[in-house]
Amino acid sequence: MNKIYIIDVTNRDGVQTSRICLSKLQKTMVNIYLNKFGVFQSEFGFPFTNHEINYLNANLELAEKGILTPIRLSGWLRAITSDVELAFKNVPKLKHLNLSISTSKQMIKYKFQGKLDYASIIKSMKESVILAKQKGAETIGVNAEDASRTDLNYLIEFSLAAKEAGANRIRYCDTLGYDSPFSIYERVKKLAQAIKIPIEIHCHNDLGMAVANSVAGAKACIDCGVDAYINTCINGIGERAGNADLVSVVLAIKFAQGIEDKYKLDSRIKLNVAWSMCKYTSYALGIPIPINQPGIGANAFAHESGIHADGALKNRRNYELYDFEELGRGEPEIIETGRQITLGEYSGIKGFRNVYEKLEIKFKDDKEATKILELARYANVHNQKPLVEEELRFIAQYPDIAKKIFTMSP
Ligand SMILES: [Zn+2]
Repeated sequence: MNKIYIIDVTNRDGVQTSRICLSKLQKTMVNIYLNKFGVFQSEFGFPFTNHEINYLNANLELAEKGILTPIRLSGWLRAITSDVELAFKNVPKLKHLNLSISTSKQMIKYKFQGKLDYASIIKSMKESVILAKQKGAETIGVNAEDASRTDLNYLIEFSLAAKEAGANRIRYCDTLGYDSPFSIYERVKKLAQAIKIPIEIHCHNDLGMAVANSVAGAKACIDCGVDAYINTCINGIGERAGNADLVSVVLAIKFAQGIEDKYKLDSRIKLNVAWSMCKYTSYALGIPIPINQPGIGANAFAHESGIHADGALKNRRNYELYDFEELGRGEPEIIETGRQITLGEYSGIKGFRNVYEKLEIKFKDDKEATKILELARYANVHNQKPLVEEELRFIAQYPDIAKKIFTMSP
């Protein structure tokens, strides 16, 4: 039976969004969380962008060391050969990537403005796929940007050309969030029947249907006998109204009527990592989790009105579709209200040792402690907010990789 896998794009679509920033250390922590959560692939950045180079190479080193594994780390580039050349020059060990190009009449006419037409789009995409394979790419997804507004016959022609050139998947991008569950199901079904290779479903939330559309698109893939790869972002961040929210997508596949039992989610998914992953990402982004966010919001398991509270207390299934424990919730959060020693870019050795001792991390000698302190200072310069436990542990465990991540030379 075919399965539904998750390709998370928080570190690409998420961070390219207006007003949304993650430091390279925070992006690394997000990759680590996505790996723990069991995501199949993290689109971890832009290999043709100079300030990403050290971060991308350092994360591939973490993969080699067995820390960021089995998750796949994939780069996003335009489907033009110059991007492919540059990507492999900057990040030689890149193994997985997605090549993107617009395919809709709207974008061909009003974005490319005569520079590219239907035929030259296919030509550029094919040349890029072939070059990427020559450069050592093991898997390639080809993105049809604005696929939902693309003539279906052309989309099929484009996708078959990508398959023939060696692409492993087609990314169906509902770039503007224009699809409905009904339209995406029909369109993806026709596409899957025609091309017979796995399809990525990439949905935006402009009409509030990103999660529903993702599930409907994935259903079409499975119904036609191909694997589906849903693109998500943690906490539903992403361009404009956001991408499909990662946890909501997983909840929908696991618990929605007519989907649960019938459609299989990648068995590596560990929903109980959701709470810590979403809380960390919210802190890193500086964006609070909405009170009503599915599974994770403060109200997701809260009951107040008489009938609801009474019902939930009698039997949780009266008013709860799934259990808070499944999402890793339920532990009380301890907030220190007395003296606190925090670590910042101007911290000294005593305060630093105190913080690490609380984490039960010991250093060999003063030399090692001083080295880690220096890195923790840089991490603070980098993040511009107090470091959290996972970040402190990461720096102490992998100091050389941390150093690489903090290094940028414009
Ligand atoms: Zn997008």
